[in-house]
Amino acid sequence: MITQNIDQLHARAGTRELVEVHGTIAHSSCLRCGARYPLPEVRARQADDDRRVPRCDCGEALKPDVVLFGEYLPVDALARAEDLAAGADLMLCIGSSLEVHPVAQLPLITLAAGGKLAILTRGLTPLDGKATVRMGGDIVQDIDALLHALALTATVVTS
Ligand SMILES: [Zn+2]
Repeated sequence: MITQNIDQLHARAGTRELVEVHGTIAHSSCLRCGARYPLPEVRARQADDDRRVPRCDCGEALKPDVVLFGEYLPVDALARAEDLAAGADLMLCIGSSLEVHPVAQLPLITLAAGGKLAILTRGLTPLDGKATVRMGGDIVQDIDALLHALALTATVVTS
């Protein structure tokens, strides 16, 4: 599972292998010394601060370990995502406009390696014409229908 989500929902749903290419709110890091704190600790530090800014032991603010606009994606996560994309027989692109690079390149890697795409999202994407399957309705119903069509045994967890 490659996700642009940062909200931990995939992890909480039990996803075994998760590549969070935009990082996660599960932890925050110090902008000065790089110390990392888990979310419950960050929340406690935020509550204890007069200005509600979670702070490191060194006094600097903590930043969630998520990719903000203009920042680079984590190199290791992106490399793993590219490996998975290159090895996929079928990539399910779910709920993405496929417009934000470099993540939007991943389906092209799958296509170049001979894999196929299924795009399940509302609205147009630049790769609609390259998809073997294209669905744009209710995401839960579409996933269910696709899984049945693929004769996969899977449990879809929604929140
Ligand atoms: Zn620090």
